[in-house]
Amino acid sequence: MDQEMDQENDKKPLVTFYLKNTITCPVCGMEFKREEMMTGRGRLITKGITKELRRYYEPSKVYGKVNPLLYPVTVCPRCYFGVLHEDFDKIKPQNVANAKAASEKRLAVINRIFGTLDFRQTRELKHGAASYILAIDCYDYFDKWASPTMKKAICSIRAAWLFNDLEMENPLDDYGNMQNHFYKKAHDFYKVVLIKQERGEESFDGIKHMGPDTDFNYGYDGILYLVGVLAMRNSYLEKDKLKVIEDFTNAKKIVSKMFGLGKASKEKPSLLLDMARELYDELSEKIEEIKVTMAGQETSSPQ
Ligand SMILES: [Zn+2]
Repeated sequence: MDQEMDQENDKKPLVTFYLKNTITCPVCGMEFKREEMMTGRGRLITKGITKELRRYYEPSKVYGKVNPLLYPVTVCPRCYFGVLHEDFDKIKPQNVANAKAASEKRLAVINRIFGTLDFRQTRELKHGAASYILAIDCYDYFDKWASPTMKKAICSIRAAWLFNDLEMENPLDDYGNMQNHFYKKAHDFYKVVLIKQERGEESFDGIKHMGPDTDFNYGYDGILYLVGVLAMRNSYLEKDKLKVIEDFTNAKKIVSKMFGLGKASKEKPSLLLDMARELYDELSEKIEEIKVTMAGQETSSPQ
């Protein structure tokens, strides 16, 4: 009895718990329990946000590292069907067969990157990153009423962030490349989101929280801003300098849409506006830098 008590006392206080009610996978019928984060009581000590609007948290002395990004995607441990929790039971019956047929493919993709991953276990960084990869794939089975492109964009940038965390922990693994891959995907998806929205092909009606992180909803302005941030982040991929100038000029145009609309409000926090102005200036500087380098190369090239 005493021994038992001691063991109890040695246990770290819990960061997550499993919901009592089981969830049934709409694709394969498996029943499982979902892991959720406990809130309150000093588990989340906010630290600051990055240029990419990612929120960082101070590890708490009592609870250790806490990462809310690991839990928003519900994943079936058997068939690896995974989407944001609010959509998990909303897949339409006509799409279930396709989602089921692709189950082996999903397992193979995750297996190739991480090895065996058991989604019945307490989630770690790998589960988090894998959950977003699965969601990017599984939103193919959702139509525009669910705003799937926007959700793919959010899941892509979050996957990139978690691969960054994984790379910090294991610098020798291939996580850096995965990170770059998902930053590229995030950029592509965010650009498509804007195009689809302009053409009326996909609205934001199907999404409540546009993040990009779990802490705050930056809404439409967040998208405009991130398109600029990601243009900068991914510009190393484009070798043609004229193309880079064109991309940056487009990004400036998109970011500048955030200014004209007046002063800061609840939806338009001044922090984001300030960051957007800085980004705008940075893009302008980069364009000038490239132009100067190009002019230098022209004059120094042999006649
Ligand atoms: Zn399943």
